[in-house]
Amino acid sequence: MSPRLDLGPKPHLGYTASRIERAAERRTDPAALAALERQPRARAYLIGGELVVLRKGAQTHDPLFTLSQARSLGPTAETTFLGLIDDDPRFAVALDPAAAKSLDGRDDLVVTDLRTIAVRGLVEAEHLPPLAEGKALLTWHLRHRFCSNCGSATNVVEGGWRRDCPSCRGQHFPRTDPVVIMLPVAGDRCVLGRSHRFAAGMWSCLAGFVEPGEAIEDAVRRETREEVGIECGEVRYFRSQPWPFPTSLMIGCHAQARSREIVIDRTELDDARWFGRDEIVAMLQRRHPDGLGTPPTVAIAYHIIRAWVEDEVSFD
Ligand SMILES: [Zn+2]
Repeated sequence: MSPRLDLGPKPHLGYTASRIERAAERRTDPAALAALERQPRARAYLIGGELVVLRKGAQTHDPLFTLSQARSLGPTAETTFLGLIDDDPRFAVALDPAAAKSLDGRDDLVVTDLRTIAVRGLVEAEHLPPLAEGKALLTWHLRHRFCSNCGSATNVVEGGWRRDCPSCRGQHFPRTDPVVIMLPVAGDRCVLGRSHRFAAGMWSCLAGFVEPGEAIEDAVRRETREEVGIECGEVRYFRSQPWPFPTSLMIGCHAQARSREIVIDRTELDDARWFGRDEIVAMLQRRHPDGLGTPPTVAIAYHIIRAWVEDEVSFD
């Protein structure tokens, strides 16, 4: 191994370390929820499909509206209770996606997607976790208005944390989809891939959905084998990240690569190859001679890759 590397202060992992106290015990009491909505300091995030509506500011923008402001900006659907920040209630209000789009261009508002908000730092960092919570929850509502058991229209209960079917009495809960995202490593080398949709020059970790009946470790080994043909042994959990595009939880891992030959699944990946440690450091520091780089610091892939070189993750 090379001498210990220091890449400077570690950036914050986006959407994590929420200050929200979810106060789940309040969800079951409709009168208490109504009282929370009426509190003078109650505020709502306004989300229309992929778009978030912000109030234009000088440095950063303000994503918080009073509930009446939020509901005055267009047709709205569910209001979900996200929790409390310093005892102040926080909600997410579902705005009709077409109405959200039509607000774009107003002088006092900014309408954009949550990825852009996070990568460009358009709001104070403390708003990212509740925005992720609200977006994932409202996306689930948008796609689950009918009972998956009998097809009847369902009713929102528990502040948006459940939908009940009046017909078959089924109860439906918001779901989170686990995704493994991993870096196969062997000594001083690791494997990165490029998805067809990546910007030119960007390389990242491999990733894929955990399937029913599958352990995280097995999903890491299967996805790595399927996407690049590499056999993995030991799998080590690193960190996780909510990824509300639409409702994923990214489970970051390092994996011990036991084979070397790469066979790319071209339906999944545009390219994949081995990278040396020095090349990875240049990519993290944005000084690669060919302009290659890693994903932005908001994404867990950056942290997985950086931890391998900086914290010397090794299976040797
Ligand atoms: Zn039903």
